[in-house]
Amino acid sequence: MVQNDWQKGRIVRIEDETASTKRFWIELPEVSRFDFEPGQFITLELPIHEQQSKRARSYSIASAPNGTNTVELVIVQMEGGLGTGYLFNEATVGTEFPVKGPRGHFTLTDPIETDIFMVCTGTGIAPFRSMIHHIYNNNIPHKELYLIYGTRKNADALYLEEFSMLKEKLPSLHYIPTFSRESEVAPGHGIGYVHDIYEQLLEGKDTSAHFYLCGWRDMINEARKRLQDKGFDKKSIHFELYG
Ligand SMILES: Cc1cc2nc3c(=O)[nH]c(=O)nc-3n(C[C@H](O)[C@H](O)[C@H](O)COP(=O)(O)OP(=O)(O)OC[C@H]3O[C@@H](n4cnc5c(N)ncnc54)[C@H](O)[C@@H]3O)c2cc1C
Repeated sequence: MVQNDWQKGRIVRIEDETASTKRFWIELPEVSRFDFEPGQFITLELPIHEQQSKRARSYSIASAPNGTNTVELVIVQMEGGLGTGYLFNEATVGTEFPVKGPRGHFTLTDPIETDIFMVCTGTGIAPFRSMIHHIYNNNIPHKELYLIYGTRKNADALYLEEFSMLKEKLPSLHYIPTFSRESEVAPGHGIGYVHDIYEQLLEGKDTSAHFYLCGWRDMINEARKRLQDKGFDKKSIHFELYG
């Protein structure tokens, strides 16, 4: 099967991650394994509109390739959102819908030759979770990895415990969850916005690192501007815009 045709997808597991975010496991039962590159996304066709062109919603794959036909997505509910309204309120384990993918070019270079800064907010952490687990699982040569993850409060942080444990096993991973609405945080965590964190980390460094930005427009635009002002080449700033 060509993976860029529509194929059947089926929800096989749903778990709450935070008050507004759920993890969905989607099985692609027509293939025995679903191969993709970490950082890619799939598109779901949800029964939310009469016109087919208005039914598609894309989600980054949050799991690393594992040789199976099931992928994990992490999705935040949008107030008034049609797709997330359906996924959160109507879809259940067993719900099926067409899926297209894997799609997208938000992937790491091969080989990885520079330090990598992964900057994200909210569910923008999804592609980085896939990339980092893939690097760890396959012992892929790399330099330093900075995961700068912005969210409001400790209780909103996705995969907090998992990354805190992973960084113990992967010493090149600098995991810096950064909270805009907390006044006290654990050692090594940040207060404020992601931009201040990477700017501090860049002090005294050259512009050879590559930046991967993922999330919503305001954060991405701000980061692209700040990095270009600092002399980073456009080609070293990669981004995945959620909307
Ligand atoms: C490549 C890619 C990967 C993505 N990966 C993820 C991911 O991993 N996790 C994730 O959570 N999201 C991801 N997204 C975002 C996702 O595709 C959806 O956009 C998101 O889930 C919202 O969809 P929705 O149907 O619920 O909202 P929509 O119905 O599309 O509405 C979006 C927002 O706009 C508002 N809105 C809708 N219509 C109007 C209107 N007429 N006037 C004013 N406001 C309006 C809604 O209230 C809502 O807040 C990704 C997007 C892309 C492009």
